[in-house]
Amino acid sequence: MQIIVTQNAGFCFGVERAITMAFDATQDHDRNIYTLGPIIHNPQVVKTLSEEGVHAKEDVDEIENGTVIIRSHGVEADTMKKVKGKTSLNVLDATCPFVKKVQNNAELMSSEGYSVLIVGDEKHPEVKGIVSYIKGPVYVAGSVSDVEKMPKIKMLGIVAQTTQSQENFEKIVDACMSKAEEIKICNTICDATEVRQYESTDLARKVDCMIVIGGFNSANTKRLYSLCREIQPNTHHIEGADAIDENWFDGMKRVGVTAGASTPSTVIEEVRLKIEDIGLQNKL
Ligand code: SF4
Repeated sequence: MQIIVTQNAGFCFGVERAITMAFDATQDHDRNIYTLGPIIHNPQVVKTLSEEGVHAKEDVDEIENGTVIIRSHGVEADTMKKVKGKTSLNVLDATCPFVKKVQNNAELMSSEGYSVLIVGDEKHPEVKGIVSYIKGPVYVAGSVSDVEKMPKIKMLGIVAQTTQSQENFEKIVDACMSKAEEIKICNTICDATEVRQYESTDLARKVDCMIVIGGFNSANTKRLYSLCREIQPNTHHIEGADAIDENWFDGMKRVGVTAGASTPSTVIEEVRLKIEDIGLQNKL
């Protein structure tokens, strides 16, 4: 049985950076280390960090002193102000530079007099963060139908949540053409998501079974799973090697493995080894 792992499976640049900062903090700082919300949507990493003394808190008011790590998708402007204003806290800002770029672009457009449209999911913390940096009118559109509900606008600035698909962004930009007299567009999509989706769907076409690894509450992993499943119905979403059922691989010649942007390489390797082991046993 051949096992093929996609080239860019697992951590993206921003997540890798945030995790490294968190582990480094356990070496350099006291044991009072906190993240605002879980640092990534991966239960194993959150558990390991918690064992090292990095705990997730939902609200900065729950933290008296110590080190606070800001997650890769950033926080709202008020929260950042509050954290930085608390002199008893040491702040490590792990906001991904690509997310920072969206916040800065949106803030600049707003200060230049543009109403700002964010293409993305209004409930996602990254989008809530971007919204908070905009002083004037702001809209969030996840689909063309959201654009249809917007009024006519004189000057419209458009940015994207970093994990949006290029296709959806372009559809929404097109729909905006009839909505505004002047449009300024900053394509702020980070290609990490798209690269993972492209590689995974490409692999799903070539294998008998796909394994998608990542947290059940990770949006990008769930999306990878549904995209692969559309192509290869024999696709399984797991959080780790323990969940593997050896019956999945009966009669399989090629198995594909992919993982969301918050899945550590150690978990991917454990899964690969377990499938390899099952393949060897089936041969005996
Ligand atoms: S997906 Fe892109 S923007 Fe988001 S954390 Fe990863 S590298 Fe940064």
